[in-house]
Amino acid sequence: MKKFFYDVAINRPLAQLYTYEGPQLVKIGSRVRILFGKKEILGIVVKRTSQPAFKTNPIIRILDNEPLFSKHQLKLLDWSADYYKYPMGEVIHAFIPAYLKKMEGQHPFEKESIGNFLIHEPTLLLSNEQQKALKDIQALDSFDVHVLQGVTGSGKTEVYLQAIEKMLRNDKSVLVLVPEISLVPQTLKRFRDRFGNVCYAYHSAMTPKERMKVWNSAANGAARVIIGTRSSILLPIKNPGMFIIDEEHDKSYKQHEGFRFSARDLLIKRAQMLDIPILLGSATPSFQTIRSINDSRYSVSYLKERITSGNPPSFTIIDMALSKSEAGLSQQAFDAIERVLKQKRQALIFLNRRGYAPKFLCSECGWIAQCNNCESNLVFHQLEKRMICHRCESKYAIPKHCPACNEISLIMTGEGTEKIEHVLEARFFDTKIIRVDRDTTRKVGSMQNLMEEINQNQKSILIGTKMLTKGHHFPNLALVVIVNLDQSLISLDPFALEDLGQQIIQVAGRAGRENTPAEVLLQTSYPNHPLLGVLKNGKYDIFAKTILEDRERSKLPPYSYQAVIRCHSRSIKKNMDALNSLASIEFKEAEIFGPMPAVTAKKGGNYFHQIIIQALSRNKLSQNLDVVLRNIQTAKRTVKWTWDIDPVEH
Ligand code: ADP
Ligand code: ZN
Ligand code: ZN
Repeated sequence: MKKFFYDVAINRPLAQLYTYEGPQLVKIGSRVRILFGKKEILGIVVKRTSQPAFKTNPIIRILDNEPLFSKHQLKLLDWSADYYKYPMGEVIHAFIPAYLKKMEGQHPFEKESIGNFLIHEPTLLLSNEQQKALKDIQALDSFDVHVLQGVTGSGKTEVYLQAIEKMLRNDKSVLVLVPEISLVPQTLKRFRDRFGNVCYAYHSAMTPKERMKVWNSAANGAARVIIGTRSSILLPIKNPGMFIIDEEHDKSYKQHEGFRFSARDLLIKRAQMLDIPILLGSATPSFQTIRSINDSRYSVSYLKERITSGNPPSFTIIDMALSKSEAGLSQQAFDAIERVLKQKRQALIFLNRRGYAPKFLCSECGWIAQCNNCESNLVFHQLEKRMICHRCESKYAIPKHCPACNEISLIMTGEGTEKIEHVLEARFFDTKIIRVDRDTTRKVGSMQNLMEEINQNQKSILIGTKMLTKGHHFPNLALVVIVNLDQSLISLDPFALEDLGQQIIQVAGRAGRENTPAEVLLQTSYPNHPLLGVLKNGKYDIFAKTILEDRERSKLPPYSYQAVIRCHSRSIKKNMDALNSLASIEFKEAEIFGPMPAVTAKKGGNYFHQIIIQALSRNKLSQNLDVVLRNIQTAKRTVKWTWDIDPVEH
């Protein structure tokens, strides 16, 4: 009797596929139950293969009538495994809907249907710039990366909506990526208001069952517009016509754990495989995207004017050396807050540090409270009356005496969101103060509640970290105070400056979105830094150009390509030995930096060290990486390894 053999991907950190024997009818892309060692586990059939020389085990059971993954999806997964150098099994398993990871059941493909959309006629007459952008976009009829670079409030979303409308009329579906789960509800609402309930959300805070429903609705055509985060890039979509990535510069598109991939880059690849256009929207495109525009690989439309004719906010740089300050807020900031509250409007205080005080130290001997596992400075949290490690979340009681010299001389310095809240509460005791950071948004739905609170309290003070500045729309916001970004300004990390520029422009863009004047105060100890001068005038393009010219001269990304090879163990020496043995490899047309400690140098008792490999083409990088990874696989396992291709931070 003729036998049939299949290569199966399983969730094990091993590079190869495993061959199993099965009946003729196994469809490629199906889930199967197989015996691996002594355990029965889940596998995905990725291809037919010929009979191997060794004895094979049979597939125990086929779990799907219809394959879970289409040929197209498998091709994308295969490409990702190859590009990011991860085992196909791990890559596939990162994208299997949680609901189907159990080995029972079928995935309940429903009957074909086509979602009927309504169009609540656009009441908005597009501006000239919007019309031109829409025309450019509608002219795209095959793969093309088109950047919609529009200042905040320039009406990018309206352009997306009208571009999508045409897709819907042509029986096509559209996937829209947003960087954060918290942005999904407001975006979904706006899209449903226009197109009705053919619009769906997909993100990791939904239950496995809810996600399964959307997966099926996408596949059978009921879902015509899907608003999703990172995890939605592989959704099966019937008749995809276009992809959109909003806030394309956002670092949240990069997965930082497990299978490290860029959702933006993978979705671009998928668009290319499907030969459909993809839109990248942002007020502050990533440097990588700007380079691609400059090299004419991406096309671009600009929206330079805000819709609501309102002037861009006025921008003032405050020299902290010359200003009286309390809790890190300058006198000018307090005055400005008072002014906008009198006008019954909102002020936003932005800083990237949660907790109360980021440093707890002894004024006698200089001892600093640090986490035992991570060596990072402990942050005092007022609400919990504890010091908390922001890396591993370990909590520590507050000592009365200095553990080093025993004096009663412990003090707190620096400021976090909690302290600013505390100080402002004392000053503006009759004003609503709303703090948005990781500590106030832990519970599911809390972000949405806070957003509603912000909308209901037109006179209020908002305090927040980066998460408050992303994409949200605060019509009554009249003042933004940027408390302290000096660390990024003088950082040596090539990615820190890009981040800084984007953050300043993005947070400033939250203000004055309606027809009312607004101001931005930027507090700094480097008031004469030339890049601040450029950002002050809202000139993100000039900011980017200045830095990119420098990058091109010194052959740094995006003019070269990098991979970080990182290892961790309980011993610095083991790490260094392991990395030094890599450094002795003969690299071809690649530069090596390090070994050096990683930015997170210690976490949970482990030390982290790394080298950075840099090459002038992706191909060269890939070839050198292959050598390194082969080396790692054959060497003695004294440390644990991870790698990150196209890192967005070091
Ligand atoms: P962006 O996405 O660029 O930040 P939005 O699309 O959210 O901007 O638009 C900002 C505001 O302007 C929204 O309230 C939107 O409804 C409104 N708007 C957009 N386009 C127009 C238009 N052509 N006419 C009138 N209002 C518009
Ligand atoms: Zn001391
Ligand atoms: Zn810790």
